[in-house]
Amino acid sequence: MPLRQKLNLNILLAEDEPAIANVISKVLGETGNAVSIAPDGNTALQMALSHTYDLYIFDIMLPGMNGLELCRTLRKSKDHKPVLLLTALGSTENIVAGLDAGADDYLVKPFKVAELMARIKALMRRTAGGFAEENKLRMADLELDLEARLVTRAGNEVSLTSTEYRMLEYFLKNPRKVISRMDLLENVWGVDFNMATNVVDVYVNYLRKKIDKEYEPKLIHTVIGMGYILKDT
Ligand code: CA
Repeated sequence: MPLRQKLNLNILLAEDEPAIANVISKVLGETGNAVSIAPDGNTALQMALSHTYDLYIFDIMLPGMNGLELCRTLRKSKDHKPVLLLTALGSTENIVAGLDAGADDYLVKPFKVAELMARIKALMRRTAGGFAEENKLRMADLELDLEARLVTRAGNEVSLTSTEYRMLEYFLKNPRKVISRMDLLENVWGVDFNMATNVVDVYVNYLRKKIDKEYEPKLIHTVIGMGYILKDT
């Protein structure tokens, strides 16, 4: 995909460092997007609540409300537009905290412009392309309704975060196949480099607690040294 391909997105960027905000805004503007800049978290929240954006890019360290709180607040107000977090802190804890707050992806500063564009494209593809050929995915008594974005196990509704949902969707679209941690990183988070694969384990465990812990048969199995497999036998 060419770097300069038009995306035409309406983007809210919360970034307090003017130099970084200007570079991101310029690059995204050149590819056909409209970028509104908020210099702090509270301004970003006001803008998000009063306008409709296609995508949010939030720096984590912001004056006032930080990027994580911003994300959490929007998710609470039922705003599920994709959120890309920018973080100078590459530690697993911060990444997990960001994804827990409801963010869809993150980018560690400093990053290359091409990487930012690639993440945005992957994010928009994932969030727009949720409607598959089939409406429901199933394994044993686990069911995922792609249109309603509803998950049930033995008829009980299971409440998942957006990341857990994407992970389960990926498992269900690849049943009875060994899935590596890298496969999950690439397909659930869109991360294509070898860092923080333990984030995957953390999320697989969250998902297991919700869909497997109180049910039989267990569906997500660990394949030692390889990854995971979704199967009912
Ligand atoms: Ca900052």
